[in-house]
Amino acid sequence: VLKLSHYVVATDVINDRGQRVIYSTRTGRRVLVSDTCYQYLLESRADELPQKTRDDLQRNMILVDEHEDELANIISENYTYGRTPQKRLYEVVQPTAMCQLGCYYCGQKHTKDYLADDLIHKLVQRITRKFNSGDYEYVHIGWFGAEPLMGLPQMRRILKQLRASLGEHIRIQGNVVTNGLSLKEEIFLELVHDFNITAIEITLDGIAKYHDQHRYTKSGNNSFDLIYENLKTILRRADFDPEKCKIVIRCNVDEKNVEGVEPLIRRIADDGLHKLIDKLYFVGIYSWAGNQADKISLTKEEFAMRKMKWEILKIQLGYKTAGKLYERKRNTCIATGGATELYDAFGNIYNCSEISYSDFYEKSAYKLGTLSTSTADTDFPDKPHHDWYQKVRDTEEFPCHSCKLLPICGGSCPKAWEEGSKACPPFKFSIRKEIELMYLLETTSDDVLHEKLAGFESTFSISDFKRFE
Ligand code: SF4
Ligand code: SF4
Repeated sequence: VLKLSHYVVATDVINDRGQRVIYSTRTGRRVLVSDTCYQYLLESRADELPQKTRDDLQRNMILVDEHEDELANIISENYTYGRTPQKRLYEVVQPTAMCQLGCYYCGQKHTKDYLADDLIHKLVQRITRKFNSGDYEYVHIGWFGAEPLMGLPQMRRILKQLRASLGEHIRIQGNVVTNGLSLKEEIFLELVHDFNITAIEITLDGIAKYHDQHRYTKSGNNSFDLIYENLKTILRRADFDPEKCKIVIRCNVDEKNVEGVEPLIRRIADDGLHKLIDKLYFVGIYSWAGNQADKISLTKEEFAMRKMKWEILKIQLGYKTAGKLYERKRNTCIATGGATELYDAFGNIYNCSEISYSDFYEKSAYKLGTLSTSTADTDFPDKPHHDWYQKVRDTEEFPCHSCKLLPICGGSCPKAWEEGSKACPPFKFSIRKEIELMYLLETTSDDVLHEKLAGFESTFSISDFKRFE
């Protein structure tokens, strides 16, 4: 006997044939069903449906065996994934504690400290030991900050020593999260060719007027024009290859710059950069290391609605878009499993990316140890949040326990939940509308797309963006 899976989201009737879309968060797939079929599912009468319909729904995990403990299976899949040997050893390195910018929402304390040579040596030993004790094929380094490019000499040293230690035949690649100020052409080329950087993420918080209210230098100077020029120069190079190194633009949003987002979307398109970047994405500002930077954030509902409007505008302007909904997420973040560690410029070792350079966490369990006091094979058995999935499965402490979106979300950020904030991503508020949008894109011909999108968006009201239960 089959039952309707708990992990589904159904739209209202979506077309004049009276059909609905049902989306399974366990498979990430969608099925179009008649309203009658949907009523049968709700009334637990799946066995009365035609065999073909049942098979189809079962294959997509919209129908599951009535005895299946779905939550237990989802968690067990996540655990299995965490234990499955990966080809990639992912490590995060913060080569310096310095950054030119003094963004008001930043929770880090920046100082002129750089990873010292003795720590670089220990870092290389640690990464090499990890690599050699697993079945890895390559190393991927996330170069984070503070501002990683201010520690470029340290990055070079790490790369050189790591190459020597792992052997030239082992690929070392990475991604960089940078404020973009030092991203001059020659540095970009070095990142792509020497560091094998496959993605660079730069933050622009709106057009200049808004961005510069968020992201000014420590001495109070503007930063937008410099960053944007660097970006344009790189993207317009004749040899720029968007497949080799993806350029991602992040936009942090709160009340202060929300009106600067749409002009930014338009500016990037006007300059023809929208077809060259990999993506432009939006994030609500949250409290970072207890700094309460979220005081002037939009409500989650408002943000979710605005975000959908921005995504629609991007489609209208011809941005590259993902074209699919969310897929199954088996590892929430580096804290919930896997071998990844983060090393800061003082040699501290963490398993979470939001801890370093802040006094707030100084005495917390997040600080696993230091490179100077541990050896290459010191293991840290009690990492914070390694029991996250177990907690989600066995307790009702967090709403993720009963959330239908758990398979595609993973609980978002365990640290945020522990600290008392509701960590749900925007799609917790927009998932139904997002499914409708996807349907509209798939069923609308190009000649009427603009009109249809405009019509779709004009129906939005804040009550469409409620927390999905
Ligand atoms: S963080 Fe929110 S959306 Fe994600 S699983 Fe938990 S309750 Fe669901
Ligand atoms: S616990 Fe939260 S902040 Fe830490 S790595 Fe995971 S998602 Fe990021």
